[in-house]
Amino acid sequence: SLDVEALTVRFGERSVLDAVDLSVAERETVCVLGPSGGGKSTLLRAVAGLQAVDAGRVRVAGRDQAGVPAHRRDLGLMFQDHQLFPQRDVAGNVAFGLRMRGASRARAAARVAELLELVGLPGAGRRAVASLSGGEQQRVALARALAPEPRLLMLDEPLGQLDRGLRERLVVELRELFERLGTTVLAVTHDQGEAFALAHRVAVMRDGRIAQSGTPSEVWQRPASAFVARFLGFDN
Ligand code: ATP
Ligand code: MG
Repeated sequence: SLDVEALTVRFGERSVLDAVDLSVAERETVCVLGPSGGGKSTLLRAVAGLQAVDAGRVRVAGRDQAGVPAHRRDLGLMFQDHQLFPQRDVAGNVAFGLRMRGASRARAAARVAELLELVGLPGAGRRAVASLSGGEQQRVALARALAPEPRLLMLDEPLGQLDRGLRERLVVELRELFERLGTTVLAVTHDQGEAFALAHRVAVMRDGRIAQSGTPSEVWQRPASAFVARFLGFDN
């Protein structure tokens, strides 16, 4: 589980995260939804320990993360732009976090095969990253983030580079995958269709604040403000 309390990040005068409160229960998927520049990626980086915070608290499975360096936090992060290692093959990418955490070569290889199967790329281990399509690369990035079985999986625009058809298929696959594995997920996206299809709960974010949170149907049926309503595409 994840508990974020009053998390604040300032760049100069500006609060990019302004006292954000957010929680994700065990085995729950929460999607933060909001326009570009609202602070979504900053939120994930702050939770991951990759961004210094000015105030507030982050707890993962009840443990305060203050002072815990990024590489010791029990979480997987899939970045907005994948950041696959182009010089490693698919297996090398997926195994990265496993080897970092001291898994043996044989153990890592078995786990990589299992994960590639899981994301629908069986046998792709020896392929060069550059030879993969955008959607395939996205799946590899997902397998890499899942590999160490993090307590918390964080996804930044996980389907961002994909066309609508692929996105709609993958969102269903991901949801089923997370349910099967019992993964706790915090995802961020500016695509409401993706958020509503993926998440048990959504949190709409604007200018560093959570404007509303609730189940997709709660938010859809009762937007709490004119901003939320407009963002969802209602015209008043
Ligand atoms: P997008 O949907 O475009 O990915 P986002 O919601 O992820 O947007 P962030 O990347 O979190 O937005 O950025 C929030 C704001 O903070 C933006 O205005 C951005 O320019 C600013 N920002 C992010 N990182 C820094 C930084 N290191 N220094 C100054 N400003 C920053
Ligand atoms: Mg972003």
